[in-house]
Parts: sequence; C-alpha cells; structure tokens
Amino acid sequence: MSETNTVVAGSVVTLHYKLTLDDGQVVDSSEGNEPLAYLHGSNSLVPGLESALGGKAVDEEFEVTVSAAEGYGDRIDDAIQEVPRSAFPDDADLQPGIQFQATDQDDNPIMGTIEAADDKTVKVDFNHPLAGKNLNFAIEIVGVRPATTEEVEHGHAHGEGGHQH
Ligand code: ZN
Repeated sequence: MSETNTVVAGSVVTLHYKLTLDDGQVVDSSEGNEPLAYLHGSNSLVPGLESALGGKAVDEEFEVTVSAAEGYGDRIDDAIQEVPRSAFPDDADLQPGIQFQATDQDDNPIMGTIEAADDKTVKVDFNHPLAGKNLNFAIEIVGVRPATTEEVEHGHAHGEGGHQH
C-alpha cells in the first residue's frame, strides 16, 4: 500500500456506494451510474462515512454502519413547522409524504416532507428524510488521487462524478 493510493485529507476519492436502511430498503446507490467523486476532508459526505473512508486504499471494499448522529442527524421535533398555504403554488401537490426542496434562511437547500395540509396551513417536516436512521453503506473504492490546487481551492472534486463547471 503506497501513500498515494491511500485516502488522506486532500485525496480525491472515487467510489461506488450502496446505502441501505435497517429494514433492507435501498435508498441510494451508484450502481449503473458513474462512481461518486469527492474531496476527502471537505465534509462532502456524512461525517461517519467520511471518517470510515480515511486510511482506506484503492480497490478496497467494505461495509460500514453509520449511526444517525454521524449521519443525517437525529430527528428534531422543532423541525416540524406550519407554513402558510399561500407559500406554495396554487397547483402544488400537498399530499402527505410528498417531498420538495426549499431553502433555509441561509439559502441552503433543505428537504421538506408534507405531513398535512388544509386551506390555510401546511404542516411540513423539515427533518432530513434520513434523519434518525442508521445508514448501512457498502463501499467500493475505485480511485484515489491527490486533489489539484484548484480542487483544494474550491473545496470539491472536479471531473467525472464530481463537480462539472
Ligand atoms: Zn470547482
């Protein structure tokens, strides 16, 4: 194992992944797609997964269970909020369980899930859909290389599976 193909801060890691919940439901997978590329140490991945990848090498395959606290966080009751019906388009589908993307105060993207709706108010759960859940990852590392200066400046990986811009 040479240092250049081991995952350290500043490595661009390319990997295939499969994310399964404890009930066996596969919620995300790179199967059939380009592998994901990310810059190690940039907090691009959930913390528990990024730390599990540290020190791993190219061609390694492993499974890791990440707790909610090290994943998308625990569920927070305060994240369930009532939003005026007028904040949504007239033709919005507001059936319980419908998910939509909104932005928080800082303009960061945030997922909302409709809990209930009437003429005046929509009850929205702004917890991440995977909050409170254990995340079971199956990982296959297909590439490790040092980040370019530009990637370090941008704080993300470029090229296939990374940012294209
Ligand atoms: Zn960039």
